[in-house]
Amino acid sequence: MDANSLQQRMNEIQKDASFSNALGKLLSGRPGYKPVIETKQVIVKCKHCGKIMDDSQKFCDECGARVERPAKN
Ligand SMILES: [Zn+2]
Repeated sequence: MDANSLQQRMNEIQKDASFSNALGKLLSGRPGYKPVIETKQVIVKCKHCGKIMDDSQKFCDECGARVERPAKN
């Protein structure tokens, strides 16, 4: 399983309300409690070759293309 399909799986899990409800009940002991699921993992993908890279990488080690990401600061 690569990082991309893992991200997709996480999205699916969070869309699944019954999973969320079950987890909330498990965590809090109450039905209907909505748990907060962390989704801070950032996946950076080379736009040139599609290789999945570490967020700290500036250049793709597969094809050498510069990694572009939105500048937030
Ligand atoms: Zn690349």
